[in-house]
Order: sequence, then structure tokens, then C-alpha cells
Amino acid sequence: MAATLKDYRGDVSTWCPGCGHFSVMAGIQKAAINLGLEPHQLAIVSGIGCSGKVSEYTRSYGFHTLHGRSLPVAQAVKLASSGMKVVASGGDGDGYGIGAGHFTHAARRNVDMTYVVMDNRIYGLTKGQTSPTSSQGFKSKTSPEGSGEREVKPLELALGAGASFIAQAFSGDIKGLTDLIQQAMEHPGFSLVNVFSPCVTFNKVNTYDFFKENLIDLSQVEGYDPSDKAQAYTQVIEHDGNLQGIIYKQERPAYHTFLDGYPETPIAFNDVSTEKSVLDQLW
Ligand code: SF4
Ligand code: MG
Repeated sequence: MAATLKDYRGDVSTWCPGCGHFSVMAGIQKAAINLGLEPHQLAIVSGIGCSGKVSEYTRSYGFHTLHGRSLPVAQAVKLASSGMKVVASGGDGDGYGIGAGHFTHAARRNVDMTYVVMDNRIYGLTKGQTSPTSSQGFKSKTSPEGSGEREVKPLELALGAGASFIAQAFSGDIKGLTDLIQQAMEHPGFSLVNVFSPCVTFNKVNTYDFFKENLIDLSQVEGYDPSDKAQAYTQVIEHDGNLQGIIYKQERPAYHTFLDGYPETPIAFNDVSTEKSVLDQLW
């Protein structure tokens, strides 16, 4: 019988009511179901932050890594387990701060996996500090007079680093978000979905209403061709990254195609809820 949301849903313990991350996690789970994946065919590798809890709250294979280190682990999981669909998840501080070096290299390496970043433009878990994507001038406990640093622009960074699939979604549009995550998971290479996922407790500027008012849906822009990188740069810069939809998509051989001996037939994993564990089988 095909998996349902009930099979994927674990217990959520610490997210605040209304947090955007609920929608992102549901989007990942629904996308997996739409792709016909059973929970034991999905691995979620997460970093540290409120966003990092997705690997605990989803009943699939999971690995809760260190701050900023989800991408090296996720790439290793994919290369060691060709039959597994791998999704890394994390936040803006995790992915574009301490993990930014990993991000740029994962993008150009093009391992077949998806990176979902829950971008709330603040550090939520540690109670509201300015993050790498907080806008210049943003006031918080760590920048009471307003941040003097220009913010990291995730879409510009991803385009420059060479990601072969770049999309941007919004927690307030769960249907669109699910569809973009699904397309990212189907893309045969490194795919980024940057999701504006409001922190309702600590960020009173970048709220659901803020994103509803400011985002432009690229699918409604006449003549937009996501395979045209120049067009992608133009839209991203003209609208200062306030876009929704597929920003850029490129057909390019994934990293494993350059590896001699990489298994042609995906390695299958058993359902550990009913079968012997993978470790038992290996040892
Ligand atoms: Fe979500 Fe912010 Fe609460 Fe963390 S602190 S769970 S990001 S609303
Ligand atoms: Mg954050």
C-alpha cells in the first residue's frame, strides 16, 4: 500500500504554533508521497536550528548533524546509498553562515540531492539574533542599532556557485511549495529550494504578510525561461530576490556519473520497521 502522511509524521515537540517550518516539513513529506517513496527510501539530513528538527520529526531515515555540516553528510549518504532519495534541510544561519563554504561547493559538485533551506532571516532557536540573510538595517538583540552588513542573497549565491536547479518557495503557499520541492527532488543533480519560512516569534518584520505582499511569481512572468541564466540573473537582481517559482534549471551530468563503478542498480534499503536494520545486514 502506498505511503501516506500518517506514515511520515513523527511527533513535533518544540516548534512554536504558526511557525513556517510546519508547512516546509509537510511539503517535503507530501513531495515524497507524490513521488511514490516509502519512508525507508528517504533520508533527511539536517543541520542545527529550529529547521534542523525536520529529521527528527519525520519518520524516515535521518541524520541530525552539526551546525552547518548537513551538506557534506548528505552528499556522503547519497554517494553511499544510490537508491536513497536524499534531502538536506537547514536554516539561513546554518546554510548561508557557517555552512556557506559547503553550500558553494555542493552546488558546483552537483551530487543528486535536494537542499531545502528554511529562510526566516533570523536565528530562531537561539532566540532572535541577526542572521546572514537579515536585511541591512535589521534590528535585533545583536544589532540593536540595525545591522551594518549587507545580507547574503541566496539566489545570487546559488547562481554564482553553479547550482543546476534553483527554486524559491513560501511557507504561506503550501501547494506551490510542495510542487517546487517535488520538482527539485526529481531533478537529477543538486537542487536548492530556498523557502521563506517566517519565524513568528522573533522576526516581526519578515512576516507572512510581508512575503505575500512582496513576492513575484515567476510562472506569471511572460516569456520567462528558467533555462536562461542571464534571464535568471536579471529577474533576481531586478526584484532583489523577492521571487517565487523555479529560478533556474540546467541539464548537467550529476557527480556520480563521473565515478567509475558507481552502482547502476540502486542499492535497496529495507523498511527497518519490519525488516532487519541496515546495520544488521551490513555487519
Ligand atoms: Fe519557528 Fe521561530 Fe519558533 Fe523557531 S523560534 S520554532 S523558527 S517560530
Ligand atoms: Mg533562521
